[in-house]
Amino acid sequence: MPAWRIDWRALIEKNRAFAPQLLEQNIRRLRLAAPWIPPLNLMHLWLFWLRQPESVNEALWRQGVLAAHAGMLVFYAVLALVAWYLARRPELVRLRQLSVSVAVIGTLGFAALLSAIDQLVTSNITPLLIGCTLVALVFLHRPLSALWLFSLTLALFLFGIQQTQSVPDVLLSNQVNGLSSCAIGLLLAWLQWRNFIQINTQKQRLQAQAKLLEEQNYTLSYLAEHDPLSGLLNRRAFNHIVERELLRCQRTQQPLCLLLLDLDHFKAINDRFGHPLGDAVIKRMATLLSSQVRGLDSLARLGGEEFMLLLSDCDREQGLQIAEKLRQLIESQLQVVDGKAVAVTVSIGMSYLDAGQLSSYESLYVASDRALYSAKQEGRNRVKMAAPS
Ligand code: GH3
Ligand code: MG
Ligand code: MG
Repeated sequence: MPAWRIDWRALIEKNRAFAPQLLEQNIRRLRLAAPWIPPLNLMHLWLFWLRQPESVNEALWRQGVLAAHAGMLVFYAVLALVAWYLARRPELVRLRQLSVSVAVIGTLGFAALLSAIDQLVTSNITPLLIGCTLVALVFLHRPLSALWLFSLTLALFLFGIQQTQSVPDVLLSNQVNGLSSCAIGLLLAWLQWRNFIQINTQKQRLQAQAKLLEEQNYTLSYLAEHDPLSGLLNRRAFNHIVERELLRCQRTQQPLCLLLLDLDHFKAINDRFGHPLGDAVIKRMATLLSSQVRGLDSLARLGGEEFMLLLSDCDREQGLQIAEKLRQLIESQLQVVDGKAVAVTVSIGMSYLDAGQLSSYESLYVASDRALYSAKQEGRNRVKMAAPS
């Protein structure tokens, strides 16, 4: 589509999509702008009250200006209160729309009326220009509503000055100036609206990108801490947890146990049934272990067919019971995997820290590994225990 052509469908869609933000902005702007007007009205009222008219026209003009400003004073004082209330009540959508419309139409109406009244003694149409500029800059208008609004204002203004301006040349000049004022209002309103749409489109894009980044960060940190095959913690994340738990248990004088679990003759399972079935065995093993551990415990796959389990606040007798229970569970539950009689067993090496005992993760790990080695040496499918050196 050429750059000069307007995509009406996209325009209408954007109008609709950003309608809530547009209304929110308008209410906020109304709340900020409305309290400024009554003091200005008061100033006008005071100045015109003091002025003594010297002709019938001047008296009419003075009365008209006083009445218009008194009306505006009440109008904006009420609007300021309503806007202040509505700014806190986003759920009152219709009322918010209504008050913005009333504010906009009222302001333009007053501007056209004052300009017409001014024609009784002057030739200027400043109120109209101020009104159009103010309404275009303070409020956000959809292009079509802006077109309607400024056209109606122009019509009202033209009708008004027709009644009050008797000099034909001045009338003509002001008709043209009125048209220009409304056109300027329309242009400013359109520029404001374009700006608003662009900013909100960018904001939406940024929010979508931030959300995507957050999701990607989450995935990355998940991948950095988990083993993709089993979904368990990986060695790195597990190391962090053990270091922290060691410190915590030593401070709170709690015992703990570290279990190293290694499937027996796993290579033979791979060789006999193939790697995909080996993978399925690893997954089943992970599911079984996860179903047994407590919330306090931490479970990880170190790689291959090796797993590690940290039992926090668990003494060596309880640790041995848990290890034995796991061994039996695996022996009974991993007889058949995916319809294949794999008959998997596990050897478990366990080390422990008694309450208040000090040791490093490294010596606990070495002790578990030593215990695992002797479990393998003594025929596999058993639990062995060793104390850290
Ligand atoms: P042992 O009873 O002494 O532990 O014998 P083993 O066969 O279990 O131990 P070994 O260390 O000799 O073999 C481990 C096997 O685990 C070798 C390797 O092919 C296999 N393995 C390692 N990682 C994976 C994996 O992610 N998937 C599968 N299917 N196999 C794996
Ligand atoms: Mg191994
Ligand atoms: Mg093994």
